[in-house]
Amino acid sequence: MSLKSPYPVNCPCCGHGFDAALWDSVNTSVSPEAIELLAEGEFNVVRCPGCGEGFFVAKPVLFHFPRTQVMIYVVPDGEDHDRYYPTLTLPRPESGCRGAKMA
Ligand SMILES: [Zn+2]
Repeated sequence: MSLKSPYPVNCPCCGHGFDAALWDSVNTSVSPEAIELLAEGEFNVVRCPGCGEGFFVAKPVLFHFPRTQVMIYVVPDGEDHDRYYPTLTLPRPESGCRGAKMA
């Protein structure tokens, strides 16, 4: 199975706090669209309801490829995979914030 869960995030552009539905695990047979999202750079990219800015949220994700019996656990660089995330802290987008209200 694949799993998405809500996580509290703060927009890196306007500071608006909201719950974002983020992938925790991906079964590529059940959710092939997740691989397309990865290829398009849209995986775990959320859009702020406050300013409309889109940004990537780095978090651990388990990928399961049933056909080849491969599992890959991706952990963002420098993150402790057992760490509890009260609120995900995000860097400003490299492309900058377009038209965002700066907090
Ligand atoms: Zn925002």
